[in-house]
Amino acid sequence: MEMLYQLSHTPVRRLRLAVWITGGAAWNARVVTVGRRTKIVATLGPATDDPQVLDALLAAGTDTCRVNLSHGPIETSLGRVAAVRRAAERAGRHIGVLCDLPGPKVRTTAFAEGVEVAPSQRLHLVDARPGASVTSDASVIAIALQGAVSLLEPGDIVGLGDGGVQLVVVEPGAETVLVEVRSGGKLRGRPGVVLPEDRIPLTSPTADDLAMLERLLEVGIDYVAVSFVQTAADVQAVQRAGGASGPLVIAKVETQAAVDDLEAIIEMADGVMVARGDLGVRVPLEDVPHIQRRLIQAGVSYGKPVITATQMLESMITAPTPTRAEVTDVANAVSQGTSAVMLSAETAVGRDPVAVVEAMARIIVRAEREFDHVGWGKRLGRQHQARLGEVSAASRITSAITAAAWQASVDVEPAAVIACTRSGWTAKAISRFRPACLLLGVTPNLTTARQLSMAWGVTPLVVTELATTDDIVWCAIEASVHAGYVKAGDIVAVLAGNPNDSTATTDVLRLVVLR
Ligand code: PGA
Ligand code: MN
Repeated sequence: MEMLYQLSHTPVRRLRLAVWITGGAAWNARVVTVGRRTKIVATLGPATDDPQVLDALLAAGTDTCRVNLSHGPIETSLGRVAAVRRAAERAGRHIGVLCDLPGPKVRTTAFAEGVEVAPSQRLHLVDARPGASVTSDASVIAIALQGAVSLLEPGDIVGLGDGGVQLVVVEPGAETVLVEVRSGGKLRGRPGVVLPEDRIPLTSPTADDLAMLERLLEVGIDYVAVSFVQTAADVQAVQRAGGASGPLVIAKVETQAAVDDLEAIIEMADGVMVARGDLGVRVPLEDVPHIQRRLIQAGVSYGKPVITATQMLESMITAPTPTRAEVTDVANAVSQGTSAVMLSAETAVGRDPVAVVEAMARIIVRAEREFDHVGWGKRLGRQHQARLGEVSAASRITSAITAAAWQASVDVEPAAVIACTRSGWTAKAISRFRPACLLLGVTPNLTTARQLSMAWGVTPLVVTELATTDDIVWCAIEASVHAGYVKAGDIVAVLAGNPNDSTATTDVLRLVVLR
């Protein structure tokens, strides 16, 4: 049986899919063509400000654009949000906008010129007084966090920059602390400062974050990312500030505290980011790959999109091709089941942002050919059963019905699973099973369609709002046929819920042969 599905927006591939029929010995092989499943998040910056570059960036496969508020005035960021909306309109696509709040990133004052510090060299750390323009140099480094210096104790490690430079506290003091360089390196600009987390707690979101969020709410964005999250309450604070119709909140996991409180944070957040940059200077670097794997597994099992971020194709900031290790890193994240992979400086300030997205898309598509869809779904199904006793009736019903849809996708091999969804939850709930077939997220809500640009494998489709489950199901099928995703003779599996039920339970699964 040979079937071809053409997705209009994503690069198309031919996948020879062998489906293992449960308990049987027969391999049932068929050829399906679905688009890329793992989503691409590209960070915008000076290198993508030309509208033509932005158009090409989307055409190359960008699903969500990240606007990083750590750099430049907020007006620049708001301008980039508007530019994405215009480019998405030109492309006729649902592109997500993710705004990333800086959080309490502590920095030194500026180094007037770059310096190099060497092991066993001694120098002083001081408080940067607000208002006074103290610069840092090789003998005195000023930390722009009032009172932080006085909390340091002998033996404490202070990291600078991306963790390359490490200082050990020798002699504490109220205003000046003597430190010795443990590992040396170059310092320039305003390097980030990593202080002992247990004694000098970071608080997130900051007042600045919340003020920025207010401006972002005025223009309307799809996702907001919170930096240096410590607890689920930090995530909740941003959700509350955003209000009921506010953006979905992504928790950036980049502190030891967040790693220790992973499940609660995942449960609270609408998505999580493996923020390997800051994470790698706050936990032992060799722990990062394993935290990544845990985070992907846990996040996906809760139906929350997981973004794997930072240094994925780092060398392409300056080079035309990635390293073997980078290609392998992206492919591994795909095999681990990440929902999305992210590009940072590679696209924001890189030499050729479009080529980076193209390379990313190629690596993903190739890696997805090896993905074990059936094995993933089976493992996830067991995890769900183990957890069912602990959750609400609505979650248990959604779990059971989406598990049934996944099982049907294996047994019946439908052309598509069609998830009818207002909030996006139904689509994400089935997406976590990583079904091999096409997965459509059919929604009356434009924001939801944009937000689904982060959900693994989901192709969003916008339809009109309807009042009954029956109407929703038939309208979704009609729209899917009309858009060319499925055709007469196909079988589709449709998931839906009652539009008048406030618990957003998905309780209907229909298997339909299209005539
Ligand atoms: P950042 O977050 O790029 O905003 O610092 C990602 C990370 O730390 O990896
Ligand atoms: Mn970070």
